[in-house]
Amino acid sequence: MNVLVINCGSSSLKFQLINSESEEVLAKGLCERIGIDGSLTYQPEGGEKVKSDKAMPTHTEAIQFVIDALTDEKTGVVKSLDEIGAVGHRIVHGGEKFASSVVITDEVLAAVEECNDLAPLHNPANLIGINACKKLMPGTPMVGVFDTAFHQTMPEKAYLYGLPYEYYEKHAVRRYGFHGTSHSFVSKHAAEFLGLDLSASKIIVAHLGNGASISAVLNGQCVDTSMGLTPLEGLVMGTRSGDIDPAIMEYIAKKEGLDIAGVMNVLNKKSGVLGISNNLSSDFRDLEEGMNDGNKYAKAAMEVFCYRVAKYIGSYAAAMNGVDAIAFTAGIGENSGTVRKMILGYLGYLGITVDEEANKKRGEDLVISAADSKVKVAVIPTNEELAIARETVALV
Ligand code: AMP
Repeated sequence: MNVLVINCGSSSLKFQLINSESEEVLAKGLCERIGIDGSLTYQPEGGEKVKSDKAMPTHTEAIQFVIDALTDEKTGVVKSLDEIGAVGHRIVHGGEKFASSVVITDEVLAAVEECNDLAPLHNPANLIGINACKKLMPGTPMVGVFDTAFHQTMPEKAYLYGLPYEYYEKHAVRRYGFHGTSHSFVSKHAAEFLGLDLSASKIIVAHLGNGASISAVLNGQCVDTSMGLTPLEGLVMGTRSGDIDPAIMEYIAKKEGLDIAGVMNVLNKKSGVLGISNNLSSDFRDLEEGMNDGNKYAKAAMEVFCYRVAKYIGSYAAAMNGVDAIAFTAGIGENSGTVRKMILGYLGYLGITVDEEANKKRGEDLVISAADSKVKVAVIPTNEELAIARETVALV
């Protein structure tokens, strides 16, 4: 079956058409600036990537252009919509309502809408994408795959904040976690790749991308993760602060003359390694270069980032009473041997030793721990689209 995987943002839409038997990507692309002007980038398997400007007042036009491109006589990869068996939608927040992927029905859409307050930038956009697809592909089954679902197995002690309990009961204020599709995919694949029995394993997944989170996966189930009510908590990220003393918000507001929205903007968009590096960059390629050139801000950003990851790994080893394997994934985790080395440098006490040569490689399934290491350390490229396609096929 061919599955169309859709990841819809407020003004963008990423897509892949995946053959679920061969797991090949038949075509992929991106619609950008929806509601502003609009462009479509489209690349069929083995073909060239082509970007063209197209008027996209709403997501419905964007999806129509995607369908047109996929079924185009010259560059298309299917003859008609009949060859698309299902659509898998990434949905950011499922609250406590969704602990797994679901076939999308009217009831599901209403329940997702109820989670809008928890992810006001993302869930409404996801819903718009789903509704646009329903309009253009009315007979095709749709599945929702939630970023939060994998983390729903966290115990209460891991998801409750030290806040009045009534805020949890009245307003659903608790830790949810994100990147769940990636943490699920990578933990399963790491166990398989490393020859571990997933149902009797302690795996820490470090998803280090522009957004970064880490999770503790005990016997295949998530028991803790670093992101919280929103994706702002936890690790230091590209532009997000991660954990800070909450009192900083009032302090900065007073000192800088900002309101809550202004402070939130700083914490989401101007902080993280971008902020620490004195606005040098949020990209670790630039930071590594800066650090090697003696830029003290770049060095501080790299060190704060890696130290925070190492501390979380230590706390998750404590949470699981040990760790069998650590898996690095996402843009930084898959590509930066320097970041991995700096993080693993803190973890000698766990009996971790690094295979320096293996650690220099990038972008493929790799074991980077040495043969005598007490904990296996691997690089496992994530593939959220494939994970969504697999979940979709399993449900339809
Ligand atoms: P992601 O959000 O998973 O797409 O990751 C994007 C981030 O990965 C970029 O902002 C970079 O910081 C990082 N990245 C990508 N390629 C490399 C590389 N070759 N070396 C270091 N960092 C990289």
